[in-house]
Amino acid sequence: MKKTRFQPGLYKSLTSYFIKNTLAGRKRFPLVLMLEPTHRCNLACMGCDRIRTAADGDLTVERCLEAARECRAPVVAVTGGEPMLYRELPRLVSGLLAEGKYIYLCTNGILAREFIESFDPDPRLTLNFHLDGMQGTHDRITGLPGSFEKSVESIRLARRRGFRISTNTTVYKASETAELDSLFALLDNIGVDGMLISPAFAYQSVEEKDKIFFDRREINEKFNLMSGFLKKYPLINTPTYMDFLRGRRQLRCTPWGNPTFNPLGWKSPCYLVTDGYYDTYARMMEQTDWKVYEQGKDPRCSNCMVHGGYETTVMRLAFTSPREMLRLALWNMTKTR
Ligand code: SF4
Repeated sequence: MKKTRFQPGLYKSLTSYFIKNTLAGRKRFPLVLMLEPTHRCNLACMGCDRIRTAADGDLTVERCLEAARECRAPVVAVTGGEPMLYRELPRLVSGLLAEGKYIYLCTNGILAREFIESFDPDPRLTLNFHLDGMQGTHDRITGLPGSFEKSVESIRLARRRGFRISTNTTVYKASETAELDSLFALLDNIGVDGMLISPAFAYQSVEEKDKIFFDRREINEKFNLMSGFLKKYPLINTPTYMDFLRGRRQLRCTPWGNPTFNPLGWKSPCYLVTDGYYDTYARMMEQTDWKVYEQGKDPRCSNCMVHGGYETTVMRLAFTSPREMLRLALWNMTKTR
């Protein structure tokens, strides 16, 4: 059977979630929980914030499941750190599936073999592999020779085992567009279900920011340059978000759409910026001054076009505008395998 970019069940689940929250009069409710059970990692990637601000100690599976219940987001991105280093990953993933969640399990793929071979594929589970370029570039960004080859091996194995697979590619200032085209052609050839492409997040903790990260104008230029070849591939960036990245559409951020929970607590205000941590989701929601971030008034928001903040805005638009919903539905059904 042909696959859509996102599972039809996910759309159903999101629709009923939106309706329930709207009827309950909730103004702010999350779509995706960014769950970081560990900050330990086997790599030291160039643009990564978590290895620079890492928390000691891992979350327990019980605390992770409690967090998922607390915020009620229908989708959970299990990220980190490298989740494959989290000893109880199979129990965590099984627990989240039992809670009815849709899961994106984010990994650099290097240590993924054991999980792929021993865990049963599930229609609500997507393995999301991180690849930033072809061999030379990816290995240089990750700081580990051979990391590209290992990741590609894991993707091929996951394909053979029947997992739903997506990839996540970060575009840096130095990324060559022709090389990204070659990378996506390779991934498409392997048969990945969806590809996510994002401009590098301008983390405060990363030194030499100006050399690595784009400003908004540069993001617009780069994504316009890639427009032609990106059409060939099953991107999972929505078309409205792509218009935003190309500078053809203005959007406001939805900072509470993807709350982050990790061993330090609930991170405020967003995945990218940290002003503080809270022990409960409710306290984080109550005590964060959302209007500042929703209106883009914080200077740290000025160059941010991160999908976590703006794809939620696109989803909210779709649930309030039939035109946007139709655009999203048609897009979801095309470029499938
Ligand atoms: S614009 Fe970016 S940095 Fe600002 S709140 Fe939204 S996601 Fe965070």
